[in-house]
Amino acid sequence: MLYIDGMLGEGGGQILRTSLALSLVTGKPFTINKIRAGRKKPGLMRQHLTCVNAAVKVGNAKVEGASIGSQSLKFEPGNITAGDYNFAIGTAGSCTLVLQAILPALLAADGPSKVMLEGGTHNPFAPPFDFLDQTFLGLINKMGPTVSASLIRPGFYPAGGGKFKVEIAPSPLEKINLTQRGDILNKTAKALVANLPENIAAREIKIVKKLLGWENCEIVNAPDSNGPGNVLTLTVKSENLTEVFTGFGVKGVTAEKVAKRCAGQAKSYLASNAPVGKYLADQLLIPLAMAGGGTFITQPPSRHTMTNIDVVKQFLNLNISCTEIDNRCWQISVEK
Ligand code: ATP
Repeated sequence: MLYIDGMLGEGGGQILRTSLALSLVTGKPFTINKIRAGRKKPGLMRQHLTCVNAAVKVGNAKVEGASIGSQSLKFEPGNITAGDYNFAIGTAGSCTLVLQAILPALLAADGPSKVMLEGGTHNPFAPPFDFLDQTFLGLINKMGPTVSASLIRPGFYPAGGGKFKVEIAPSPLEKINLTQRGDILNKTAKALVANLPENIAAREIKIVKKLLGWENCEIVNAPDSNGPGNVLTLTVKSENLTEVFTGFGVKGVTAEKVAKRCAGQAKSYLASNAPVGKYLADQLLIPLAMAGGGTFITQPPSRHTMTNIDVVKQFLNLNISCTEIDNRCWQISVEK
């Protein structure tokens, strides 16, 4: 039994999700205490509980402590079962984070799976659907498996009700090296509004054009979303990967400010020459660990990345090094 300290690093939900994912993949049981102790409302929230329940289903696991607010959990995985799954969070909690907990297992399953997820699809502090689809799954597909995601309806906080489907054809993950972006193929902007005036999106695009000079910009209206929402997505497609930067419309913050912040993320990525952005860095560690190796160059590692490295090393006997190249680039290598 592994003992995971939920207060590790930034003490967030990712410690739990990485533990669930790697427990299923390695067959190692674990106990975690002080779940999300670093957060204002510690313990399992609905999104985290859905992760646990989904992991129990996919991995025929036994669990103790799976209830809202619980700060400790014992998880004993069984056999991973490929199949058709449907997981609804019941709030606007992030569906992509639920997928983080079970996708590694389904990539290692002995047959194809389909997963339908319902809740938030575009949440601040979580991978938005476009990032999952283009950035993360884009790389998973380069590593061997075939995974496709389709958005059925966007879901925003607080209404939720968003939906997407993921189809997974597993295959062993191969190592990947992402030390260069390669040529940039295109840069695109998409401003989406759901049940909000379209001029919010138009003002965001105006700022993108002014600050970044990008021409390939579109406005998308999603009236089928359950509630209001606005998200600006900036996509940099390069030869070796696609990176996605996101800005969320927030009440009381002007569309111009949302767009300016988002443009700033894209600008700093383009200026750094690092192919892997800071969010992708922490998420990429899991497939690299499953592949048994790989290297990438990224922006200075976040606390999430450092924490995820610690959790990965508890489940798998790997060397993971982080080396500063210059003040904008770090190399992270995973080796057996
Ligand atoms: P908490 O327990 O902290 O409330 P949580 O369960 O929502 O949190 P975190 O531990 O904060 O999750 O992990 C958030 C995950 O979302 C990380 O993997 C991070 O890389 C990813 N993420 C956050 N923002 C973005 C973004 N804009 N684009 C892509 N990924 C993101």
